Amino acid sequence: MASTLPTIQHLIDGQLVSGGSRSQDVFNPATGLAEKRVLLADKHTVEQAIASAHAAYPAWRATTPLKRARVMSRLKVLLEENAEQLCALLTAEHGKVLSDAMGELQRGIENVEYASYAPELLKGEHSKNVGPAMDSWSEFQPLGVTAGITPFNFPIMVPLWMWPMAVACGNTFVLKPSERDPSSALLVAELALQAGLPPGVLNVVHGDKEAVDTLLLDKRVQAISFVGSTPIAEHIYATGCAHGKRVQALGGAKNHAVLMPDADIANAVSALMGAAFGSCGERCMAIPLVVAVGDATADAVVAGLKAEIAKMKVGPGTDSANDMGPLVTQQHLDKVRGYVDQGVAEGATLVVDGRGIKVPGHEAGYFMGACLFDHVKPGMTIYQDEIFGPVLGVMRVATLQDAMDLINAHEYGNGTCIFTRDGEAARYFSDHILVGMVGINVPLPVPVAYHSFGGWKRSLFGDLSAYGPDAVRFYTRRKTITQRWPSAGVREGAVFSFPTNR
Ligand code: NAD
Repeated sequence: MASTLPTIQHLIDGQLVSGGSRSQDVFNPATGLAEKRVLLADKHTVEQAIASAHAAYPAWRATTPLKRARVMSRLKVLLEENAEQLCALLTAEHGKVLSDAMGELQRGIENVEYASYAPELLKGEHSKNVGPAMDSWSEFQPLGVTAGITPFNFPIMVPLWMWPMAVACGNTFVLKPSERDPSSALLVAELALQAGLPPGVLNVVHGDKEAVDTLLLDKRVQAISFVGSTPIAEHIYATGCAHGKRVQALGGAKNHAVLMPDADIANAVSALMGAAFGSCGERCMAIPLVVAVGDATADAVVAGLKAEIAKMKVGPGTDSANDMGPLVTQQHLDKVRGYVDQGVAEGATLVVDGRGIKVPGHEAGYFMGACLFDHVKPGMTIYQDEIFGPVLGVMRVATLQDAMDLINAHEYGNGTCIFTRDGEAARYFSDHILVGMVGINVPLPVPVAYHSFGGWKRSLFGDLSAYGPDAVRFYTRRKTITQRWPSAGVREGAVFSFPTNR
């Protein structure tokens, strides 16, 4: 029997269209009910989106940067005006609480705002008199058709890390959002059309591996930005590069917070609560591990966290009294619960067990309470793997150097932070830690829109980070032009030696 649920369509050439014979349910994680269906694009549909972006490119490239930037300024206003609707969609598909959704949207808007500075950012470099009557300059030209593939956990913000700067730089774009919560990115794209983005400059195709593989293999796609889990990031990077594309692929994380004996423990506990359990731990900058220096520090933080967890409210994201909503899908809930089972089996001490939580009236929702482990050890699966759920582990070490050795040996290097009052320790930590984004008494050191975002090690494949100044470089190609206008009538002989300034 055909589904009667509303269908989420693709946006190609400025029109909402169907495409592909496959589709899948989109669930409300707070109720466990399928409320919509999303189309899964086939190869032909994705090729239509690429063709639209390819056709729109010459005129968009020729549009002055100031006019492109004005679209971004208008989009910023429209995003602010439509914030409630966008966040309601986000919460209905992802599950995060509305205040958190608002924070995500705001961070996304700041990327749109930064993209509106593109005329300034694209100014290039100029040198006069590099030789006799000779000037030289570097300019930053767009690449052509670019594409982005995004994860479920920031369905509004992560697409806005990508396409606004790509199009502000003169490229056209094909976005493939997460099929688990696809509606909000689509609504943002429709608002971009309202803001004056010409049809075809931004296309949105929903889908899975078939859609992504089409983007990876199509010769017209010049560059790919990916954010998601590390195994897929590595696949995207290897395949995209093998097909001659520029690729940045941001992957998973396991972020450690170091707690020094001199830290303000009460404030650190508050900071850790938000960083570990905000958005149900489904953030690539979440803190799932605390490394306490000294047993007294560990005992104090475990006691503090236990007391705070007891006060947490878990329930649907639409109720502003709640601190934490549900996980995104039943499969993800099962996976996260499985990790907690494994942590117990591997010998960590489960201090708070949130596995059995029930939310009255939402029994079929994908809820899980906060879990707290003590005595987590490096060999354990719950130490090594990214759990991406509300599970916080405390580890005990003797010195700062022991804590840093642990972090530096971990396969991921996305974010980390240190809580201390000791400036020398903080400075040593930030200088020598092998992690891309570091907080000092800041639990979630997510860079603002005018800095770039990127991890080290297996948290990022590629040379350039996301958004900020790196995005301008990622979405443009440097061209250096050297020009000479010799005086008319002056006869010059041939020079066979290599030209220099000697
Ligand atoms: P995911 O890797 O499952 O999916 C990401 C995207 O890849 C989706 O659009 C999905 O459709 C697509 N995809 C999935 N399987 C694919 C396959 N086999 N071939 C081609 N494409 C495929 O990630 P997710 O579960 O949506 O998101 C959570 C992950 O994203 C976590 O690992 C998290 O750490 C990471 N993340 C990283 C950052 C960062 O900046 N480093 C930011 C947000 C999320």
